[in-house]
Amino acid sequence: MAYDALVVAAHPDDAEVQMGGTLAILADRGQRILLVDLTDGEPAELAEPGTRARQAAEAARILGVDRISLHLQDRFLTDALAVRLEVARLIRMHRPRWVYGIGEACVHPDHVAAAGLTRASVFLARLGQWERVPGGERLANQEPWAIERLFFPHCKMEPPWAEFAFAIDVSAVYERKRRAVGAYQSIFRPEGDRLLALYEAEDQYFGRLLGVAHAEIYRSAAPLLVDDPTVFRPAIHG
Ligand SMILES: [Zn+2]
Repeated sequence: MAYDALVVAAHPDDAEVQMGGTLAILADRGQRILLVDLTDGEPAELAEPGTRARQAAEAARILGVDRISLHLQDRFLTDALAVRLEVARLIRMHRPRWVYGIGEACVHPDHVAAAGLTRASVFLARLGQWERVPGGERLANQEPWAIERLFFPHCKMEPPWAEFAFAIDVSAVYERKRRAVGAYQSIFRPEGDRLLALYEAEDQYFGRLLGVAHAEIYRSAAPLLVDDPTVFRPAIHG
């Protein structure tokens, strides 16, 4: 099945926290989105095994996106060749226009691994001649696929960025983002969770910079290019 966007994340809940509002907007516009969780996020502190998978499915339903997991071990994710090839295989299978993945990370080692392997997978997906590469056989029977854009949402475990490529106004769908993130009741305590409050504070902070209630920010692997120079929303001070 073809998807418009593939989101590669280390853990269930990463995509919702980083770009849940954007996902809701894309889904509402009819874009087909596949979340790829590299690990299953187990063990979760406040729940039995399997609970987080059910929460992840519920969050995806709320946002209107599809979701799969590679079921790698949380805490032990590495930028391994086998994982690169599997993500490249998914990119070639689903032929997305856009890939979103964590771009810069140093706090959580799984995020560090996800950043490197996502970039590598995007590159490997566009190459041919895999039948001549020992160990690359799983890509040999697929056509190469070059995505249009690789975007990086901001990981909220990292300090806020002073500079970013663009931001999405997610104010209108923010309640839906809250519900999607709140589906992870084994991570966030439903009432008055401090982490959730801090995450929302970041979205409000970037909203404040841009003159809206809530915004999600992005960096881009390549400079942005537009056909229509009138697409930009006004800034507060021009
Ligand atoms: Zn994570």
